[in-house]
Amino acid sequence: MELNYTMKKHNYSAGPSILPQEVFEKASKAILNFNDSGLSILEISHRSKDFVAVMEEARSLALELLGLQGKGYQALFLQGGASTAFLMAPYNLMKENGKAAYLDSGTWAAAAIKEAKLFGETITIASSKEENYNNIPKGYEIPADADYFHCTSNNTIFGTQMKDFPVTNVPVVCDMSSDIFSRNLDYSKFDLIYAGAQKNMGPAGTTLVVIKEEILGKNGRTIPSMLDYAKHIKAESMYNTPPVFAVYVSLLTLQWIKEKGGVAAIEKLNDAKAALLYAEIDRNPLFKGAAAVEDRSKMNVTFLLNNPDHTATFDAMWKEANISGLPGHRSVGGYRASIYNAMPIESVQVLVDVMKALESKV
Ligand SMILES: *Cc1c(COP(=O)(O)O)cnc(C)c1O
Repeated sequence: MELNYTMKKHNYSAGPSILPQEVFEKASKAILNFNDSGLSILEISHRSKDFVAVMEEARSLALELLGLQGKGYQALFLQGGASTAFLMAPYNLMKENGKAAYLDSGTWAAAAIKEAKLFGETITIASSKEENYNNIPKGYEIPADADYFHCTSNNTIFGTQMKDFPVTNVPVVCDMSSDIFSRNLDYSKFDLIYAGAQKNMGPAGTTLVVIKEEILGKNGRTIPSMLDYAKHIKAESMYNTPPVFAVYVSLLTLQWIKEKGGVAAIEKLNDAKAALLYAEIDRNPLFKGAAAVEDRSKMNVTFLLNNPDHTATFDAMWKEANISGLPGHRSVGGYRASIYNAMPIESVQVLVDVMKALESKV
């Protein structure tokens, strides 16, 4: 069966979202015949030699790409999405009668705060909610006695991204769901990183958790097994049946990143894509960016038409150009171009060309 790739769309969906074409091809082969075993990856035991090797490689490659190999970190592929990590972070790190400090930079940050409040004192140390989260709050202080500080590196809905992270002695927890593996950072500054796979790493169904082992087991709580990071580490991310296919496809994406030259090489491509699109938003008199310029995300580019009367014309034009997934989140309106790792710059050029064509048309 041949797939007709001329039908393939330029997919700007915010999540689940674009993955490399090579990954889709390899994943589809594994569904039919995994490793020439005569079996589908969907019908083998997660304890089989072939799948255990997938899990091991995925865990070690995640650490390798983040520069965390041999630095006391563990990588886990869990279930329940980033939304479950919202509660696992306080359950594992907040002491009884302890407290945690949160940066409220968007809807997902607020959702994390809501869960933490179930476990203890949860202080929002800064918020950009009043400005509909169009910027990253700055100039805050992290209380020295907090059990941890929590932030969201990239605000998927609003198109803002943290460029700097605070220097603090308090453990740093970061939701990197929508920009994991997109840029070079000193990841050893973080004590707990989590990311739902479906934005920039794989299909929905698994959450990457990267954790500095020494911060665990210190808060004195009895944690239900499935929510206990230490138990998952001990079981090598196989405490129960893992989401085998989601882990496998994530591994294929991690291998693709490594082949491309790793996170630093990917960052260069991401910088070029974001520069191309923001330059057109700033140049074209019909459009304006939605986020504060200094906080603009290189993953989710949010923008608006200056004159809403052009909406129907623009929408028809980008659809005609085989673009998909461009409408913005309802809380921002306008458009959101999610230009994750797998988005080719050629696809970004197609969108820029449509924006230029609108300018000549209206
Ligand atoms: C999508 C998203 C989430 C929610 O992820 P789920 O896997 O659906 O729970 C959390 N945080 C950020 C930054 C996101 O983009």
